[in-house]
Amino acid sequence: MVTSEYERRIAARFAGFDQDGNGYIDREDFSAAAKALLAEFDTAARSDRGQALYVGAEAFWQGMAGIADRDGDQRITREEFVNSAVKRLRDNPERFAEIARPFLHAALAVADTAGDGTVGVDNTARVLTVLGVAENLAGQVAGALDTDEDGRIGEEEIVLAFARYFTVPE
Ligand code: CA
Ligand code: CA
Repeated sequence: MVTSEYERRIAARFAGFDQDGNGYIDREDFSAAAKALLAEFDTAARSDRGQALYVGAEAFWQGMAGIADRDGDQRITREEFVNSAVKRLRDNPERFAEIARPFLHAALAVADTAGDGTVGVDNTARVLTVLGVAENLAGQVAGALDTDEDGRIGEEEIVLAFARYFTVPE
């Protein structure tokens, strides 16, 4: 079987969303991602930041389902992901940024351990890894975001990078 680089990358993105690895993306995967991030940064689910993250995860799921769950069964299969999500989001990365933003905003608040409204390169890499970006890539991606090399990364940069990563160019 010949697997193109494009197919390989799509499979990696699907696996990133399918947090529990059961072969489809659903609401559980988004709450699992929120739970994993809270565990990574030792934050209580009942805290304000924890609650905001769960609300953002639900909005992210609703946005993805709206784009990709064509048969409305509350599951995004790999076929739905490839045929709907990937194509539509590739044509419109801003749309992806929009549906992911509340979740990413809340995730950054959780990862903002210095409390200054930005996130360090190391914590950014931790967020990306929890969200399914391969560990060896996460550090590079996070480092590349820090264009002025002050070691800090803001929300806009993260949202754009996340959109770019998940809206795989062909
Ligand atoms: Ca799943
Ligand atoms: Ca479906």
